[in-house]
Amino acid sequence: MRKKIVAGNWKMYLNAEEAQTLVSELTSRCRNIIPASVEVILAPSFVHLCSIHQQIQNEPGFFLCAQNLHEAIQGAYTGEVSASMLKSVGCTHVIIGHSERRQYFGEKDALLANKTNQALNHNLIPIFCIGETLETREAGDTFSLIKNQLTEELFHLSAEEIKLVIIAYEPVWAIGTGKTASPEQAQEVHAFIRELLSEKYGADLSNNISLLYGGSVNPGNAQALFACKDIDGALVGGASLKATDFTEIIKAR
Ligand code: PEP
Repeated sequence: MRKKIVAGNWKMYLNAEEAQTLVSELTSRCRNIIPASVEVILAPSFVHLCSIHQQIQNEPGFFLCAQNLHEAIQGAYTGEVSASMLKSVGCTHVIIGHSERRQYFGEKDALLANKTNQALNHNLIPIFCIGETLETREAGDTFSLIKNQLTEELFHLSAEEIKLVIIAYEPVWAIGTGKTASPEQAQEVHAFIRELLSEKYGADLSNNISLLYGGSVNPGNAQALFACKDIDGALVGGASLKATDFTEIIKAR
């Protein structure tokens, strides 16, 4: 059975006090209402990981996620954070390949493949993001781009490895823009991703990988997206910063 997941990517928002207040509100709103089948994953900034870990460690259904990691085991990389460091402060998940990392930090195929290896080597579950820009969509190249990202960045993994990965389809044109892919547009790409996974690793494995949609998910559109056959949850940016909105999205799942 595929896991149902609602993940919140806080990006570079919230100071320490704001982050802790958000988590207190969230956990008190969600206590006793999160079905056992749903995982709630929080991705605060690196500097808040320790304190948020303390807050959620005894909250069933809550998991801690980093927004990035370095591809080396350790070394003289000033300002960077390794997989083992993340593991040591309670992270279970890490976001890799977010479009903002690709766009602003020039992260490309080989680097993202290496980051994924590093995460898996340290028992961190990658939430691996893929998705097309508006230009790519308008050129009719969405499917070839998705295929290329999967092939170059994830398909070097063995079946044992890829079955641990969560894949997030995030059309870049829908991230932080208020424009959401329609449920039909999102489902079409999710079905395509599942088909590619099936061709490479077999139907059983493909059917067990959780695929998340990301791109302006909010309380008003979550239910329709979650109703789609191949959408197992969401990676949420803006709406994850408001306890009320994020709780509504979790309830919709
Ligand atoms: C994201 O950052 O992954 C994201 C989907 O952001 P938003 O929900 O704000 O579009």
